[in-house]
Amino acid sequence: MEIAVRLTTAPKAKPDGTKLGFGQVFTDHMFMMDYNPEQGWHNPCIVPYGPLELDPATAVFHYAQAVFEGMKAFRAVDGRVLLFRPWLNLERLNRSNERMCIPKVDPEFVLKAMKQLVDVERDWVPSAPGTSLYIRPFIFATDTILGVHPARTYKFLIILSPVGSYYPQGINPVSIYVEPEYVRAVRGGTGEAKAAGNYASGLKAQRAAQAGGHAQVLWLDALERRYVEEVGAMNVFFHFGDEVATPELSGSILPGITRRSVLELLQSWGVRVTERKITINEVFHAHSEGTLKEAFGTGTAAVISPIGQLAWGDRAITINANEIGELSRKLYDTLTGIQTGRLTDEFGWTEEV
Ligand SMILES: *Cc1c(COP(=O)(O)O)cnc(C)c1O
Repeated sequence: MEIAVRLTTAPKAKPDGTKLGFGQVFTDHMFMMDYNPEQGWHNPCIVPYGPLELDPATAVFHYAQAVFEGMKAFRAVDGRVLLFRPWLNLERLNRSNERMCIPKVDPEFVLKAMKQLVDVERDWVPSAPGTSLYIRPFIFATDTILGVHPARTYKFLIILSPVGSYYPQGINPVSIYVEPEYVRAVRGGTGEAKAAGNYASGLKAQRAAQAGGHAQVLWLDALERRYVEEVGAMNVFFHFGDEVATPELSGSILPGITRRSVLELLQSWGVRVTERKITINEVFHAHSEGTLKEAFGTGTAAVISPIGQLAWGDRAITINANEIGELSRKLYDTLTGIQTGRLTDEFGWTEEV
């Protein structure tokens, strides 16, 4: 499929690369294509970034049949532009599609389109430390019928946003609130998919956490409220004694690519890593025994985000004196080092645009 390109005649001024927030400004162009059962995915194009005109009955507004991905393009130290394990995002996109009854995309074609879009916007890839060009592919149902059923027609878009650190705190430790009542996902539900509706259902708990001065929510399992699942839109790791543990992929947890990369890095360093059930009680107990060394979240947006404080009901603990832990620091430096070409990419994780 040939990608039609129409370039803007009014390029925007680029933001100051040292003052970037997260997902606040968008580049000059976006990628779009359409789906219908007769033509499959068709009409691929790169066009000036701008609003879409949609019928009020468009299915996604009503029933949230939509999925997305989140990845980054990095400015390498030698000026190249690098993607990090993009195939894993595309595989996951198709798994999310499958769960949400959305037609699959051709990963090879989407990667080609993504690279072409990033290439058009190459000058938007920032170079200040900790910055990158965030890539947001997403797909939504566009049928204009109010019946509840999988749509016949869809739109796929990719938009780009130059970003700084996800949390204003950067890699500094954040305070996390263990959500006692609301749950994010249940086995058999859509928690494994990057489905838009998952995030809407998490907002209420996030608002309560933020009102209490915490950066994010730590979710417990939906059935027993005992097992740790994730932290906001990040997977979570605990360093207990000589073990680094993360919740096993139980069916309600999003399989993060940063999670997978952290597991692979730790294994390559000879660290004992386990994917298993972790109760919130175990975390607090380990803290009182003095064996909880570090806790951190992992995700594309924040990379590694150390947890400095954890509040659960009327109990609150400070982890590693609210400092960035040794392992968190090493993982952050290694991942960002590989992503920006500062370190040798021994695993073949990066792909040049
Ligand atoms: C995207 C996401 C993650 C992290 O996945 P990465 O591939 O590492 O970015 C974790 N949890 C949730 C709920 C997410 O949406």
